[in-house]
Amino acid sequence: MKILILGGTTEASAIANGLAGDPAIQAVLSLAGRTRAPVLPAIAARRGGFRGVEGLVRYLRDEAIDALIDATHPFATQMSRHALAAAEQAGVPRLAVVRPAWVRQPGDDWTESADMADAMRALGERSRRVFLTVGQQELAPFAKAPWHDYLIRSVEPPDPSLLPPGARCIAARGPFETAGERWLLEREAIEVIVTKNSGGSATVAKLIAARALGLPVVMVARPPAVAGPTVVDAARALAWIRHHALRGA
Ligand code: NAP
Repeated sequence: MKILILGGTTEASAIANGLAGDPAIQAVLSLAGRTRAPVLPAIAARRGGFRGVEGLVRYLRDEAIDALIDATHPFATQMSRHALAAAEQAGVPRLAVVRPAWVRQPGDDWTESADMADAMRALGERSRRVFLTVGQQELAPFAKAPWHDYLIRSVEPPDPSLLPPGARCIAARGPFETAGERWLLEREAIEVIVTKNSGGSATVAKLIAARALGLPVVMVARPPAVAGPTVVDAARALAWIRHHALRGA
């Protein structure tokens, strides 16, 4: 059985590693190519877009893919829409892996924002020390609020042309621990955190630290999930794949 895993997430890597060495399943991990030095699992990998739905349909057919696992990030909505449409057109079973969103806990001071522009406005007109952890592709709106002091953390350094003036950057890859996050927030005298509601355990520590310190969080809400069969984690995705493999896809 041949599987294509759309990745760029912890879950995709866990699925890939879970299938490595399985003689019944040949899996390929697909990465968009945004990260220059990704951590690659022990299966074949490819990088770069497919060129839309048509390109993905062609890939599924040319490579005789039996099942498609969409384990992209909850905010990677275009790829997920393309995956659903292409799987339908190619007649390939497709499963989405969507980790649950973070849920506000007692003691949390969250402002929910619909998107990045809304999150930028939620920071207000008084200058604040902002910890920005929204990913390197999403920084542009914050350049329109240059009166804040930004500390930006992303997996790799962002394009300098996208940065708000005077912003400082840290390149770091999760998982992060609560003690380290608390230390960083205190050392930098951060007054507010901006994050996407990515969910998952790898980057939740900043929210736990914020709760402990009584810091407000601007939480960018998730876009609506794509329709179709969905599981919440890698273990359930592996069970689905093995079930399909046993049935001969
Ligand atoms: P997106 O907006 O949904 O997708 C834009 C285009 O990038 C897609 O149409 C596709 O190009 C290409 N693409 C995306 N994921 C791909 C994959 N796994 N393999 C091959 N091509 C892919 O995606 P995004 O939000 O820019 O995210 C890009 C990647 O980073 C994804 O793999 C995602 O899982 C990962 N990621 C995203 C976030 C986030 O917050 N958005 C956070 C962490 C990781 P074509 O149309 O040419 O096929």
